[in-house]
Amino acid sequence: MEIVQIRDKKFKKFIPEQEILSSIREIGEEINENLKDKNPLFISVLNGAFMFTSDLMKVVNIPCEITFIKLSSYEGLYSSGSVKEVMGLNENIVGRNVVILEDIIDTGLTMERIIDSLKAKGAGEIRVATFLQKPDALQRDIKIDYVAMKIPNEFIIGYGLDYNGYGRNLKDVYTLITD
Ligand code: 5GP
Repeated sequence: MEIVQIRDKKFKKFIPEQEILSSIREIGEEINENLKDKNPLFISVLNGAFMFTSDLMKVVNIPCEITFIKLSSYEGLYSSGSVKEVMGLNENIVGRNVVILEDIIDTGLTMERIIDSLKAKGAGEIRVATFLQKPDALQRDIKIDYVAMKIPNEFIIGYGLDYNGYGRNLKDVYTLITD
């Protein structure tokens, strides 16, 4: 069992890179099929979705654009109850088919707020693609169109996801060891 120490915590390997990449390939091919005539704008949510976005976009081969947004931290979100855009959209999305790319959907609160904000900006069809989802944690009624992998309700890091800012550069996904 492969173990890494990140700051004060230990994590064990949970999803190896090859499984990650093949699950992303599957949803990428689905997206190619579903959106081939839709000229989508992919909106990647930083920081966590950077690796997912990169690998997914290597599979997507239809005409499309890619842009990035950055939100205030999860903790900030939790305390304020609102998603603040630290880095917003420059593109005009009125009537545009957009696909939100997220690292993980946990309660669904963040995604619900992003969807509301894109609706308010006049987006056309809004689709959601996430690398990971924790189905048991979902509290919001949101439609998730593409899920690369579903995982149990555990804290994970790696492949873009962090523990206090660290661990994003791990190429596999790791789960927290609780003792
Ligand atoms: P939600 O609003 O769906 O509850 O949470 C979404 C955000 O919480 C994600 O974008 C991510 O930043 C953070 N998050 C949720 N679960 C995890 C996890 O297991 N590990 C890490 N590193 N972040 C998580």
